[in-house]
Amino acid sequence: MAEVDLSPAKMPASNKNIGVMTSGGDAPGMCCVVRAVVRQTIASGCTPFAVYEGYQGLVDGGDMIKQMAWEDVRGWVSEGGTLIGTARCKAFMERAGRLNAANNLVEKGIDALIICGGDGSLTGADKFRGEWPSLMNELVSSGKRTEEAVKRFRHLNIVGLVGSIDNDLSGTDATIGCYSSLQRICQSIDFIDATAFSHQRAFVIEVMGRHCGWLALMAGVSCGADFIFIPENPPSENWEDEMCSIVSKHRAMGKRKTTVIVAEGAHDMKLNKITAVMVKDLLAQRVGLDTRVTTLGHVQRGGPPCAYDRMLATLQGVEAVKAVLDATPETPSPIICIVENKIVRKPMLDAIAKTNEVAGNIEKMDFEAAMRGRDAEFSEFLQAFKITTATDKSDMLLPKEKRMRIGIIHVGAPAGGMNAATRAAVAYCLTKGHTPVAFHNGFPGLCRHHADEPMGSVNELGWLDAENWASRGGSEIGTNRGLPSEDFKTTAYCFEKYKIDGLFVVGGFEAFTAVSELRKARAQYDAFKLPMVVLPATVSNNVPGTEYSIGSDTCLNALIDYCDAIKQSANASRRRVFVVETQGGASGYIATIAGLSIGAVAVYTPEEGINLNMLVEDIKFLKAQFGKDKGAGRSGKIILCNEKASKVYTTEMIAKIIKEESGGRFDSRFAVPGHVQQGGTPSPMDRGRAVRFGVKSLQHLERFMGMSRQEINDDENSATVIGIRGAQVKFSPMERIEREETDWKDRRPKNEFWMGLADVVDTLSGRPTACRRT
Ligand code: ATP
Repeated sequence: MAEVDLSPAKMPASNKNIGVMTSGGDAPGMCCVVRAVVRQTIASGCTPFAVYEGYQGLVDGGDMIKQMAWEDVRGWVSEGGTLIGTARCKAFMERAGRLNAANNLVEKGIDALIICGGDGSLTGADKFRGEWPSLMNELVSSGKRTEEAVKRFRHLNIVGLVGSIDNDLSGTDATIGCYSSLQRICQSIDFIDATAFSHQRAFVIEVMGRHCGWLALMAGVSCGADFIFIPENPPSENWEDEMCSIVSKHRAMGKRKTTVIVAEGAHDMKLNKITAVMVKDLLAQRVGLDTRVTTLGHVQRGGPPCAYDRMLATLQGVEAVKAVLDATPETPSPIICIVENKIVRKPMLDAIAKTNEVAGNIEKMDFEAAMRGRDAEFSEFLQAFKITTATDKSDMLLPKEKRMRIGIIHVGAPAGGMNAATRAAVAYCLTKGHTPVAFHNGFPGLCRHHADEPMGSVNELGWLDAENWASRGGSEIGTNRGLPSEDFKTTAYCFEKYKIDGLFVVGGFEAFTAVSELRKARAQYDAFKLPMVVLPATVSNNVPGTEYSIGSDTCLNALIDYCDAIKQSANASRRRVFVVETQGGASGYIATIAGLSIGAVAVYTPEEGINLNMLVEDIKFLKAQFGKDKGAGRSGKIILCNEKASKVYTTEMIAKIIKEESGGRFDSRFAVPGHVQQGGTPSPMDRGRAVRFGVKSLQHLERFMGMSRQEINDDENSATVIGIRGAQVKFSPMERIEREETDWKDRRPKNEFWMGLADVVDTLSGRPTACRRT
């Protein structure tokens, strides 16, 4: 690795030297941050440095601060922990340590620092920046550096990225690593559930989270726990009775297993600690259950990052470099956050202050204020958890005239989270006094049922029917691609026959089309003048009206596991490029996001298409890349190709062309993961969002109770799609989405928010723009 000339006079002012470091507890995704920062820095014409072992490396200097080359971070996207090390460093807490750190940064010629860590690390970073001018003065006054030597470094830019498994930082929906950790927790609970079910046991699971209950709450929602303990929202004064009563009632309703999740920092209203062992003793002694405790411990930190963390870390790393380049001496230090689906910059100090405020409010026992300090999503998840586990409904039941019969139907291919959404809808209905009616096997099932054919059925669902669906993949009530237009008349007849007052439709583009058809057919059939909501659920993420469909995260995780395995094989065989065919219909979303998450060399999408020139340029690029590898490890490469990227250039053909044209310098194979991409067990993100959106959808349907058919017909919000739009969860009227935002021919939204991300894939793989279709 070539060293740069570090003498300040030799450095052009625009060529910034940007340091990146990881600090505090390790979190999956930190390596993706380092990779993204290193490569984006080089792509921006600047020079990247890695600071090894967190602040300790900054204080020690020397070899702990190293210039990084493009190839140094090859293959880092799939690595867990942090390959540049992290530490908790006492010396940096003192000014003397920070003075050494400043001296080392000047020595190495570093203009800006990107720090990925928790709130402690970012507090330290902000303090460092605040002190920086005085540290420079001290270096000069003590004779360590000349005025000339520090001239260029009078301002230090710092950008923070939140890497923490706890998801404890206010202002961002997710910290880098939290979804990987949640995935590990849910996987463990799913395994434990099998034993619990077999032996009718209770398990008390302790998860990490000293001041933040996000992991416990989300695990509770995703795994269908019976009770949770989190620091921000302690249980009522008589929590022992409350918990035992809920667990006993669930058992009386027929549940064979009990799961209670306790956050590490759980306590009661008076801040007395609640431990897993206390909970276990209560369940054993008062409820008489055979109860075990499992403390998940460091398993929660481990393993490769999940797809979401890889994407988040990569996009935030790229944004951090841009923030450094945009910064002026006056710009307050930013942290890079995500709000719903948008990457945004926020002032670091504000976010840290708000985070500390939550901990302070917990200490002051002001739990309402502590909850307000968390984001809206947190309260909604808590509400959803309470609704789906409630046994005493007396204060939640609606008056008889407000109760509805809600039809629940799955349309299209199965997608992760469909069952979790249905379970949430059923639990919500029963808590409020509505009646959930399942239409099995989609619209054809409904019509066949009427014709007394065996495949179809309609039934009212009870709490126990759906209780253990939270973690199940596929579709428990069966799904079908058939549309209502195949038999409007019977569909309308069935709606009337079962006295359906509202319709909850879960599925992908077909579900969207089905509701569009029903809405349009209202003129002919009064029965369709009822409120309808589509909850987008498809691996393709191609439903108009939302930036996120449940099931797409599960798909991405299945796809990256597949690609990681293939890449390992490609690395081992040396000089091999795999062309992997992805699903996604006519939408390149899955291919592009998976491309970001595995570090693909190129992504071929239907939106861009493929032409011969692209293949020629990509083969040139591959030759150059393999030329640089010199037989080193991690030389396997992947091109992701959507199933509909081209009618002519199929995945197999592309692989053969690449092999033929490689001149024997490398090999090429194709691989088709196919239906593996629908995933087995849904990811916690899909399960959690399914529950949240499911409850919100039912609340939306409820608004129409008591309205006449005509009033419903006239209200544009009576047929809607729920989705994430911009930084909000919204219901969008079908009529407008159909008209303005739907590309009916290609079955996808007209404007796909992720299109620009293909450029990021290219920047980080070094693919020249000449390779793109013009
Ligand atoms: P996690 O969320 O995993 O605990 P963290 O970043 O909050 O991560 P900390 O141990 O709090 O972890 O902080 C990491 C390091 O940051 C500390 O060891 C110390 O070097 C530095 N640091 C933390 N707080 C400060 C501070 N107030 N002033 C200076 N440096 C600090």
